[in-house]
Amino acid sequence: MPTVPRRRRSPQEVSAAAPVSGARRVLLAAPRGYCAGVDRAVIAVEKALEAYGPPIYVRKQIVHNLHVVHTLEEKGAIFVDETDEVPEGARLIFSAHGVSPAVVQSAKDRNLQTIDATCPLVTKVHKEAVRFARDDFDILLIGHEGHEEVEGTYGEAPEHTQIVNGPEDVDKVVVRDPDKVIWLSQTTLSVDEAMHTVNLLRKRFPTLQDPPSDDICYATSNRQAAIKKIAPEADLVLVVGSANSSNSVRLVEVALEYGAKASYRVDFANEIDESWFEGVATVGVTSGASVPENLVQEVLHLLADYGYGDVEEVVTAQEDIIFSLPKEIRATLKAMGDTSRGLGGRRAGA
Ligand code: SF4
Repeated sequence: MPTVPRRRRSPQEVSAAAPVSGARRVLLAAPRGYCAGVDRAVIAVEKALEAYGPPIYVRKQIVHNLHVVHTLEEKGAIFVDETDEVPEGARLIFSAHGVSPAVVQSAKDRNLQTIDATCPLVTKVHKEAVRFARDDFDILLIGHEGHEEVEGTYGEAPEHTQIVNGPEDVDKVVVRDPDKVIWLSQTTLSVDEAMHTVNLLRKRFPTLQDPPSDDICYATSNRQAAIKKIAPEADLVLVVGSANSSNSVRLVEVALEYGAKASYRVDFANEIDESWFEGVATVGVTSGASVPENLVQEVLHLLADYGYGDVEEVVTAQEDIIFSLPKEIRATLKAMGDTSRGLGGRRAGA
């Protein structure tokens, strides 16, 4: 969606409109922005374009960020909703959110050359679904119905899986054997809300099993933990991220829940409304796991224009996870002698 740049006021003008006592400051969350799974998926598309040349088809948005998608489109990526939009035999990349076996099969049926950029942490949840379905469990998948990741995980074992959108769905759950039930989850949920849902489920099914390891991923948890620390001190929290980015939307909710007086999500700095600054002394800033750092820097520049030039980074965790590129790309790069990325990716936030 095109956005119209807003006029920026001078700090003096802002002073007149937004009287605040004390200094204006920014608390910048760390970690923020790119996670290892997003980084890997974006590099996979870039490398595929370099290695094979355009067009490279991508099923769904490779990651949920408008800027990233538009940038890759300019380089020759073509985003489609379904495999039947891709010419027979063409190259297709599956997005970081993962796909169901039915989608993999439909790509095979069209002789598509596929590259799987599913985040390894999503693949882990798929494997859990397959394993517990094989052991004949009822699987309660906590997540947002209609989200691509949830569709992919559900598709691994539809006959064993029920989607639980949140606490409101708990009473609707029906299982075959209350002693053989496990919950799994979407990777990008609010940690607190998911655990609230689990607690309600456990009241109904006391022997409900937990996943073998956390399904909500490290990047989601870390970004929420950072904003929890900042929110109580913030008059306003700005979250950079797209509307269809689950983890970005959750960051706004978490900020408000933990005491921010107001919180807004924006794709770009020019969506920030100057009225948001009225009476604001402290602005918290963070970004979702699919957001490149340059978009955050543009927000910081705009904030500096408004008089919020004093930036303090609030670091709650260090991240150094890097995932290997998809195996199909690794093989091609190796054959081309391309070791520019090693076989990994950029560091998160790069
Ligand atoms: S948010 Fe988590 S699960 Fe999703 S791509 Fe990033 S690391 Fe993977």
